[in-house]
Amino acid sequence: MNLIFLGPPGAGKGTQAQLLEQREGIPQVSTGDILRTAMAAETPLGQQARQYVDQGELVPDDVMIAIIEDRLNQPDARRGFVLDGFPRTLRQARALDRVLAATGRRIDLVLYFDVADDVIVRRLTGRRVCRQTSHIYHVESSPPRRPGRCDIDGSELYQRDDDQEETVRRRLEVYHRETEPLVEFYRRRGLFEPVRNGDIESVHRRLVEILKTRAGSR
Ligand code: AMP
Repeated sequence: MNLIFLGPPGAGKGTQAQLLEQREGIPQVSTGDILRTAMAAETPLGQQARQYVDQGELVPDDVMIAIIEDRLNQPDARRGFVLDGFPRTLRQARALDRVLAATGRRIDLVLYFDVADDVIVRRLTGRRVCRQTSHIYHVESSPPRRPGRCDIDGSELYQRDDDQEETVRRRLEVYHRETEPLVEFYRRRGLFEPVRNGDIESVHRRLVEILKTRAGSR
């Protein structure tokens, strides 16, 4: 299935997309991870993106659309994907339709993760990420077994620069202004499915149920 995870930063999209990839084999396509990898490697894309990402601003649409076109045309994504962090603007959403239509594909479902701003601020400022695997932890709600080290490969965990409180608030402003209009865009097309908030495992179970129901009715 071709899925979009829509919702504010810190709503759990990345965590749930990672679980779906591990357990159901649907590849996670995270534009944030793609940009962070490019930034760490200091490629031309990474250097261009850094000024936006570190400020909590959106990277220009043209750059993001080129990235996603390339990624969705790779063989693993031909069999289905979870888009995590894309689209973030109406222009990106329309471009996504065009990119998919060019290869006879379309979006099957948009799963919406709605979480209040104050919860997000708490979650993101406590988030820690593995440098190697991008696996996500939280200092309180989902701590690693060994402090500061990834459970999967023992690599160092770090706090993203854009998870500092001031930048989180900026990202939320940008989300409400640029990305929230996509809720109506997809609702009108009947693709929209809200996912009730909860702990990681119960949200995962709900997602799997929704996907099974939808797959069965296609
Ligand atoms: P995320 O990991 O999804 O929170 O993304 C981290 C940052 O990467 C965002 O705050 C943006 O600066 C940038 N970014 C990721 N995806 C997009 C996108 N689709 N459009 C524009 N900027 C993006």
